[in-house]
Amino acid sequence: MAVYKLFVLPGDGIGPEITAEVEKIATWLTREGIVQFEIEKGLVGGAAYDVHGQAISDADMERAEAADAVLLAAVGGPKWDGVPYELRPEAGLLRLRKDLQLFANLRPAICYPALADASSLKRELVDGLDLMIVRELTGGVYFGEPKQIIDLGNGQKRGIDTQVYDTYEIERIGRVAFELARKRRNKVTSSEKRNVMKSGVLWNEVITALHAREYPDVLLEHQLADSLGMQLVRRPKQFDVIVTDNLFGDMLSDVAAMLTGSLGMLPSASLGEKNARSETRKALYEPVHGSAPDIAGKGLANPIAMISSLGMALRYSFNLGEVADRIDRAISGVLEKGLRTADIKGDAQETISTIEMGDAILAELQASLR
Ligand code: NAD
Repeated sequence: MAVYKLFVLPGDGIGPEITAEVEKIATWLTREGIVQFEIEKGLVGGAAYDVHGQAISDADMERAEAADAVLLAAVGGPKWDGVPYELRPEAGLLRLRKDLQLFANLRPAICYPALADASSLKRELVDGLDLMIVRELTGGVYFGEPKQIIDLGNGQKRGIDTQVYDTYEIERIGRVAFELARKRRNKVTSSEKRNVMKSGVLWNEVITALHAREYPDVLLEHQLADSLGMQLVRRPKQFDVIVTDNLFGDMLSDVAAMLTGSLGMLPSASLGEKNARSETRKALYEPVHGSAPDIAGKGLANPIAMISSLGMALRYSFNLGEVADRIDRAISGVLEKGLRTADIKGDAQETISTIEMGDAILAELQASLR
């Protein structure tokens, strides 16, 4: 059986608490011979700064490079507010994304039926929702040059950002989206603003040509980004995989997140180029939420986003979709039994702790094998 090297970075705040719960599951999967994980742990964020004076050490970066996947909890907190800018906790995360060249950000929006009432939309619109936003992460207007504020000398200033995409950047993010769709419901919606932006015209052309050339079996549709924003809150279940640029993806993925009710439930993945010697990509899996310093150390954190992040690693790095499905079903089962951490309490009478939630998901997973 293949051995998968998982590099785990608990980080700060609630990070170590939710990491302990995901480790329970990874250790159990290994013990049962379902998946063979080799787990190494490192430091990132404030925790790394306190020990190494850096938000991630070179040695830990090397471990991240060598791993089959990196699983990170969260970084940051008020303790490090005074730390120099380039050493702040977030710099560790940015270095991982940059050095591993993670150009594709995957944000699923999944609404578990048991939590549908926590959404701001009506139950029937979100119950069973399962869509994936694929956002280009390393290009576009956040990085394009020139990027500056010019003093025009007449009491006016001019702020400039440049939206720029090359063919290869659009093709590689397009491939990620089409390949994902093949493992899901086989539909991609590509989104840009070709009606007012040249980069949008190119985006549309490149995705259309890539589809015709390499992925004719996948259903492709195009939607202008403003219209897609509207459709996301009007009829979100029409979507399977949405692929879009850095700026639109940033906004649309946050809109999609709110369809599902709680931050504590949402995993994400950031993927890089395919490895030359295997089909796997460099990959970082992490919850969408931050380090929640307000509840750290109190046993209140919801570990589900972290556990789902392991599920994403199984699905997208290790091609073990069946095991990932089992984890998803275990989470769903626990929620259907009415077990809730405080953040997803809703009308529940009682809540359970981080550890109790981790134990309940593990027990559900174990029961599914009996
Ligand atoms: P946050 O996501 O940490 O918290 C927002 C709110 O959601 C808080 O009330 C928190 O208690 C709650 N929450 C978040 N995750 C939860 C969970 N798993 N279970 C239960 N409740 C949960 O965002 P914030 O408060 O804006 O930021 C706190 C710190 O996290 C800051 O230092 C910020 O820079 C950092 N941050 C890190 C990341 C990351 O590591 N990727 C992302 C966002 C923010």
